[in-house]
Amino acid sequence: MADGLLGPAEIRELAARLGVAPTKKLGQNFLHDPNTIRRIVAAAGLRPDDVALEVGPGLGSLTLGLVTAARHVHAVEIDPALAKALPDTVTAPHLTVHTADALRITGDRFDPAPTMLVANLPYNVAVPVVLHLLAELPTLRGGLVMVQKEVADRLIAGPGSKVYGVPSVKLAWYSEARSAGKVPPAVFWPVPNVDSGLVAFTRREPPAGAARRDVFAVVDAAFAQRRKTLRAALAGWAGGPDKAEAMLRAAGISPQARGEALTVGDFAAIAAAAKAQGHGGKLSRSGVDPSGVDPSVVEPEEMTLMTAEAIRDITP
Ligand code: SAM
Repeated sequence: MADGLLGPAEIRELAARLGVAPTKKLGQNFLHDPNTIRRIVAAAGLRPDDVALEVGPGLGSLTLGLVTAARHVHAVEIDPALAKALPDTVTAPHLTVHTADALRITGDRFDPAPTMLVANLPYNVAVPVVLHLLAELPTLRGGLVMVQKEVADRLIAGPGSKVYGVPSVKLAWYSEARSAGKVPPAVFWPVPNVDSGLVAFTRREPPAGAARRDVFAVVDAAFAQRRKTLRAALAGWAGGPDKAEAMLRAAGISPQARGEALTVGDFAAIAAAAKAQGHGGKLSRSGVDPSGVDPSVVEPEEMTLMTAEAIRDITP
């Protein structure tokens, strides 16, 4: 392509040369449409001094766009064959390739520190990846990610929406999120069965008065039984329905309300009230998560849900 971006012929040729057979397991649907790349890079609103973090560079379609717009690009790829080939496709001195699992990567791996997350994410782990990186990298000022459309809708949903849930509240803890549009299946190879959505987010200060871990425990408990009133849904976490009611009343929230009506600030108020009453609440998960992911950041349930969805919906 004139501007060095990869079109369908280049993607096929590159994949054939590298012997790449895209796998569902790793959510490998590669972009082969330069217009979509230009659109993503523009929507990301990168500043010349930004350090971009891309999760899952794949064959390098988006990476080629990012190196023209950012001071430095970190590309984290779990597939060793793709990671090894990337510097041959993207020959930029300001690109660092990390062969690693984005769910486990730690902030100390990156120099310079990333300021923007820009990625066409592996759809099966999109939510846990975003939440993990926001927790791990306080230097991130925001990002633009492409995810399955249904997941995009959940991430940007506000209280009262049918799809408002754990991913919406946890992303809201860190940032203000908005839709940056829809992307059709035809721009990918292989073509997925689902539409995609772009989510832009800008970091903001989390609500004051309670620790993230405690707030996320309340959120997990409230949505584990989302049809129940908070008095009932939080009973297990609080140590009984009466205790839950006392904490809710102290936080100024009706015990008859449901989690789907609460803002992230409301959840923080419940966690703060619980602490003031000498009760931190039980953590939502005990023990060590076998994935090694901090359970206060990522719920194993969310990962399972997304994996099942992706395997069902995305057909190479
Ligand atoms: N950015 C490329 C593009 O737009 O064409 C590829 C996007 S593809 C949807 C997702 C990429 O994420 C694949 O290259 C896959 O190997 C990689 N991947 C999957 N799981 C990952 C993980 N946990 N950590 C890092 N990369 C991962």
